Amino acid sequence: MLLKIGAAKGVKYHMRCTVGRFVAGADGRSVAAVELMQAGSLVATLPADLVIIGVGIVPAVEYLRGAAGVTVHEAAPGGVAVDEFLCAGPEDVFAAGDIAYLPYPHAEAGAEVPRVRIEHWDVALDQGRCAARNMLGARSAYAAVPFFWTSVFGKNLRSAGYCHKPAFLFRADAGDEIITHGSLDPAAGGKASVFYIVGGRVASVVTCNRDPEAAAAAELIRMRRMPSPAALRGSGEVSLVHELRRAHAEEATEGAAGAGAGAAAAAAGAEAAARKRRVSAS
Ligand SMILES: Cc1cc2nc3c(=O)[nH]c(=O)nc-3n(C[C@H](O)[C@H](O)[C@H](O)COP(=O)(O)OP(=O)(O)OC[C@H]3O[C@@H](n4cnc5c(N)ncnc54)[C@H](O)[C@@H]3O)c2cc1C
Repeated sequence: MLLKIGAAKGVKYHMRCTVGRFVAGADGRSVAAVELMQAGSLVATLPADLVIIGVGIVPAVEYLRGAAGVTVHEAAPGGVAVDEFLCAGPEDVFAAGDIAYLPYPHAEAGAEVPRVRIEHWDVALDQGRCAARNMLGARSAYAAVPFFWTSVFGKNLRSAGYCHKPAFLFRADAGDEIITHGSLDPAAGGKASVFYIVGGRVASVVTCNRDPEAAAAAELIRMRRMPSPAALRGSGEVSLVHELRRAHAEEATEGAAGAGAGAAAAAAGAEAAARKRRVSAS
C-alpha cells in the first residue's frame, strides 16, 4: 500500500538493488549521481543533489568494552546485555533504549525467553523511566509491549508487539502467517490491521489509520488475551477494541470470583478455627 501511495506522489522505487557507487560531481567533492546494481550489473544511474542513507543503526558500545561487569553483546543485533530490570550487571549500571539487549517477556508462553534489542521511540522512553525507577531502588521489571508509530503520506502506521523474524522468512509449515483485516488499497480508504502470526500465535499487529486497534493490540498481547489465528481467520473482522473491553470485563469477573472464593475460604477457615476452639474448650 505504501508503495502505491508513494508512487502516486511521484516516488520511484528501485527494489532489490544495491548501490554500486556514488558518482562525484565536477568539483570532486559533491555527489552528482548514484549507480544502482542488480546481480553485479549496472541497472540505473540516478542524478542526485543530495543522498540520504537509511541503513539502520549500530549501537555505539565501544566506550563500554572492558567496563567492569558490563557484557557487550557482540553478535547481531548487538547492544548491552541487561536483565529484566535493565541492569547491566553491576548494580549501578543500567542501559535503556536502542542500546539495551534485554529479555522479551511476551513471547510464547513456556518458550525460552528470547532476547531482543528494540529501536522504537516509545520503548526508549518507557525503558528510561523503568531504569530510573530501578536506579532509585525499585525492582521494576520492564514489561511494556513494544509500540512503534510513524506517519507516511498522511497514513498513520502503528505497530504493537514484536516479530522475531522478518515476513520474508515466514514459513506456513512452521505456523507463520499474515492475516489482513480491512483494505490495504489506498483507493478503498487504506484502513487495515495486519496480524503477524509466528508459530501459531499473534506476535505483532501493524495498523494503518486505525490507532485505537493498535493500542488495544498492545494491551491484549500484554494480557495474553489476543484472539487466536483461527478467530482472526474466520469470517468478518475482529475489533481488538471490543476484544479488549471483553478481556477487561472477564478479568474483573475472574477477580471478583477469586475474591468471592477467597472470602468463602476465609469464612470456612474461620468457622473451622471456631469449631476447633469450641472442641478444645469443651
Ligand atoms: C531515521 C530514523 C527514523 C526513526 N523513526 C522512528 C519512528 O517513526 N517511530 C519510532 O517509534 N521510532 C523511530 N526511530 C527510532 C527512535 O528514534 C529510536 O528508537 C530512539 O531515538 C532511541 O532513543 P535512545 O535514547 O535509545 O537513543 P538515541 O536517540 O540514539 O540517543 C543516544 C544518544 O547517545 C549519544 N551517545 C552515543 N555515544 C555516546 C557517548 N560515548 N557519550 C555520550 N553520548 C553518547 C548519541 O549521540 C545520542 O544522542 C527512528 C530512528 C531513526 C534513526
